[in-house]
Amino acid sequence: MITKKGINASPGVAIGPALVLDTEEYRIPHRTIDPAQLPAQVRNLDAALDASRQEVSELRLAAARKLGDETAAIFSFHEQFIADPKLRAGVVDLIEQHRFTAAYAFAQVMNQRQKLFRNVADPYLKERVRDLYDIEKRVLRHILGRTREDMTRLTEPVIVVAHDITPSQAISFDRRLILAFAINVGGQTSHMSIIARMLGIPAVVALNDITTDVSGGETIVVDGSNGIVVANPDKETLNRYREQQREFERFNIQLRALRDEPAVTRDGLPVQLLANIEVPEEVSRAIEAGAEGVGLYRTELLFLSSPRLPTEEQQYEAFRAALRAAQGRPVVIRTIDLGADKLAPGMSAQQDHNPVLGLRSLRYCLIHLDMFKVHLRAILRASVEGDMRIMFPMIATVMELRQAKATLADVMEDLDEEGIAFRRNVPIGMMVETPAAALLAGAFARECAFLSIGTNDLTQYTLAVDRANERVAQLYSAHNPAVVRLIHQVIRNARRYKVSVSLCGEMAGNTLYTQLLLGLGLQRFSMAPGDIPAVKRIVRSTTIERCRQIARKVIEFDADRQVLNYLREELRSIVPEEDA
Ligand code: PEP
Ligand code: MG
Repeated sequence: MITKKGINASPGVAIGPALVLDTEEYRIPHRTIDPAQLPAQVRNLDAALDASRQEVSELRLAAARKLGDETAAIFSFHEQFIADPKLRAGVVDLIEQHRFTAAYAFAQVMNQRQKLFRNVADPYLKERVRDLYDIEKRVLRHILGRTREDMTRLTEPVIVVAHDITPSQAISFDRRLILAFAINVGGQTSHMSIIARMLGIPAVVALNDITTDVSGGETIVVDGSNGIVVANPDKETLNRYREQQREFERFNIQLRALRDEPAVTRDGLPVQLLANIEVPEEVSRAIEAGAEGVGLYRTELLFLSSPRLPTEEQQYEAFRAALRAAQGRPVVIRTIDLGADKLAPGMSAQQDHNPVLGLRSLRYCLIHLDMFKVHLRAILRASVEGDMRIMFPMIATVMELRQAKATLADVMEDLDEEGIAFRRNVPIGMMVETPAAALLAGAFARECAFLSIGTNDLTQYTLAVDRANERVAQLYSAHNPAVVRLIHQVIRNARRYKVSVSLCGEMAGNTLYTQLLLGLGLQRFSMAPGDIPAVKRIVRSTTIERCRQIARKVIEFDADRQVLNYLREELRSIVPEEDA
């Protein structure tokens, strides 16, 4: 039994067989084979080892020519490793003794070697673990004949164990068959985590080497609420988690009963709870969970889930579907926020040294105007279908906002000329997710119909901490006093200029922050649909007076630890059973 602690990315407990995907999505079949096929498996292994050795030998020569001996030495290590007769013998042994497939046997042997290397004290050898991953991937690619796993064709429920999952992969999985995710990298607000929460699937991220600690087919437990993964659990552990699973379900059933109750504080302040969605189909789930509308429609998935850019018609259909499903409730469509870890066909992050600070999001759109205009046309055409609002992401300067609005005005003119209907008075707002936008919130509020605070990015940019990097995840906290003060500043300015303000980062769905945000003056929250009932419960259990006191106190703190401990206490005192 192995227990690993990562970061709790999406709550809930799941128990099931692991499906291990390596970074290139290869699925390693764990099945025993017919004895008659054993020689074929060994031949397959030999051919794969040969081809891999040949490849690294060519790489070594090329590296020596272009990069010098030191780099070439890395490939020498690969070459020797692959050519080592002991490696082959170990794999053949597993194939013959246990009737494993060549891929599974090879992955097992590599798994053992990686563990050995990780446990040695010598830092040089420790570093070689990365090389072993490389070698494993290369040889497996040959053994498996480069067939990529088609995750849309799963036949049994599994827990996906992977280095990372792209948003488009996550969305293409069959939700009924994915019990949970256990992921090597990432943080609480990386897109993988956001999507898991949106889908209501438990997930733990930042597990480092979970892909080597677990083999395909092994039973694992994913405790997404506490960020723990247990591989090969013993009986007692299994029973304990089964009980936790039942408790979680009971709690959710209780929460569901709140669906039709209003989100209003005990002293009568109404609060609007909206949903974040990524695909139009999510609207009905959001309404089911009690959402009063959509506060953030992340439109990027349309661009990520296909090898070609979506056409105007495809985009229009998606936006129209979302508005129709909302049945008159507000839907805030955010214009595409591509770049960094969300790359559309034709985009390359490698051109930027720092992709999160690079040509992304609205900046990318303002350079690729043809693509942006098609997108805006599709949005505007769908605007006649309901209560649509348009929101621009990632703005740092007033000029960017003006340029975006001017582009929208151009597209409106084109539509007018073509006699195509759209809602002329569609409200236009922006996300406040850079410290610059937060500090100048007043100036922006004068030029917008609404502001929405994107704390996922605002935290990243304020603290200079990559939101998707597990190595600095302990520094990433939305409750850092610097972030809290910026949020306060935005809310105050929105009020001063009488524009509406919401918060749509992951913070909005975390009950730890509900009272603080209410106290800072926020009355509009947008979150993953599954988070709505729990937040509503907090709203209904507190008073605005109490929330204001909490906010006044937090504003005075200097350290995020103080804020965290204090907010935990305050949460416990209104809902003691909450595991804060
Ligand atoms: C945010 O940055 O807080 C946000 C809501 O946008 P995203 O998570 O899509 O970057
Ligand atoms: Mg953002």
